Amino acid sequence: MRHYPAFLKLDGRQVLLLGSGEVAARKAEPLRRAGAIIRQANAFSPDLLDGIVLALGADAPEAELHALSEAAQARGIPVNIVDRPELCSFISPAIIARDDITVAISTGGAAPVLARMIRQNIEALLPPLIGRVAALGARFQAAIRARLPTLPARRAFLEQAFTGAPAELALAGRQEEAEAAFAAMLAASDQKPAGMVHLVGAGPGAADLLTLRALRLLGEADVIVHDRLIGDAVLDMARRDAERIFVGKARANHCMKQQDINALLIRLAREGKRVVRLKGGDPFVFGRGGEEAAALARAGVPHTVVPGVTAALACAAQAGIPLTLRGVARSLTFVTGHTQDGRLDLDFAALARPGQTLAVYMGVVTLPALREGLVAAGLPADTPAAMIERGGTPQQRVLRGSLATVAIEAPEWASGGPALLLLGEAVALTAGERALAYAA
Ligand code: SAH
Repeated sequence: MRHYPAFLKLDGRQVLLLGSGEVAARKAEPLRRAGAIIRQANAFSPDLLDGIVLALGADAPEAELHALSEAAQARGIPVNIVDRPELCSFISPAIIARDDITVAISTGGAAPVLARMIRQNIEALLPPLIGRVAALGARFQAAIRARLPTLPARRAFLEQAFTGAPAELALAGRQEEAEAAFAAMLAASDQKPAGMVHLVGAGPGAADLLTLRALRLLGEADVIVHDRLIGDAVLDMARRDAERIFVGKARANHCMKQQDINALLIRLAREGKRVVRLKGGDPFVFGRGGEEAAALARAGVPHTVVPGVTAALACAAQAGIPLTLRGVARSLTFVTGHTQDGRLDLDFAALARPGQTLAVYMGVVTLPALREGLVAAGLPADTPAAMIERGGTPQQRVLRGSLATVAIEAPEWASGGPALLLLGEAVALTAGERALAYAA
């Protein structure tokens, strides 16, 4: 290790900043946030160092920077000259700040650009509100000491709290609930820990279309409850030793009734487990997430909902089909082709109106009925259409045509994966064709 890392208390202390310019201004900002009083000068003179605990230089003439470096080091004052490692006695790291949590990265002065790249990677791993979790710990510090006198007991409790309901609620910005959950967990620290359920959208199936939040929760879960739409690429992101429960749910092939799934989630949470209920796409788009959330609320089980990339968005993006398009499609309607009793109960008059794109979920089987209803309501049978199977995954397939042709060809073409129908004038043009149309 070339340098020894430390965090300085600068609140109310004097810091010298030599130089004035963009770089100097950038350096001043974190100093101010740490409460430092900044003495700024453009020319160096030794008396500027009186009462100074830290000195920085940037955007100043060479001779001034040299003089500052020499004088500060002679007096034992830590000094940093931007981009001049040979003149520095300390390094100024790349910083990630989340309230009271600070991560500082140094490459020993060798490659500041690399330090910034490393910072980006770490930024992605740290939830934006992680500082709120630290604040919870601070707020309950005395109470924790009083209730749990030994260090191992405190450590075990805090590990639970920082990966359990209190932390998750804090990360979701629900601070009051977080504090209540923390207090309850502390009061019950001699009993079984409290569980929690996360209804997590897994997106269309590609692991890199998971959200960072979904990824983190998968890494922390004790149990993953998932259905057929979730592929191995996503499940592989889960904690190794997490229990996996498959609850089936494919069309007309419900392995487990919704009520039983609700009961399972409640039971697992009451056993103290951190449960991730993983759903294809988004939990609140034709995912029955609303029913599960209601059941959990009724049972008093803490839960959160994590959005995911819904099939329509994933399919459209990968097929290059814009869902809204200026002057062509000004609204987007998510509609289900799922039937209760074999009949499509849809407002065809509204769906046939021009100027919109329809995204029809669960549409292959009921396609003929959909076409009939729409055409009867006035939608032209030659309206551009695309059927997309396994959208957003490397196995995506697209069948393009019109409402009439796709309805005829889809049953033969379909290979059994989940498929979605996009319908409307915006579906007509590929990106290349659009480029030509707009250039004309
Ligand atoms: N909650 C999910 C939808 C569940 S309903 C979401 O937000 O995406 C199941 C239907 O979604 C399937 O019948 C199919 O129409 C559609 N679907 C889900 N994943 C899909 C995918 N990868 N490609 C195409 N359609 C998909």
